[in-house]
Amino acid sequence: MIGEGQTIWLAPKAISFTAVCDACLGDEHFPESYLNASVSGTLRLEARHGWATCRRGHEIRVERAKRSLAGAIR
Ligand SMILES: [Zn+2]
Repeated sequence: MIGEGQTIWLAPKAISFTAVCDACLGDEHFPESYLNASVSGTLRLEARHGWATCRRGHEIRVERAKRSLAGAIR
């Protein structure tokens, strides 16, 4: 069972992203192909957080990784 809380991490200078919705892929009742589960969007360069919504309405958090923390995350 896949819970909520998928997060897409963006590189410090990335303004667009494409990811796959975990909720769609994990839904046993409505199995989606990999292509249908893809979600893409953009995040302004100055924005730290955002949201993406897949075709079926799952909300996915978008977070911009901080450059200063890049080396600290294990
Ligand atoms: Zn979805």
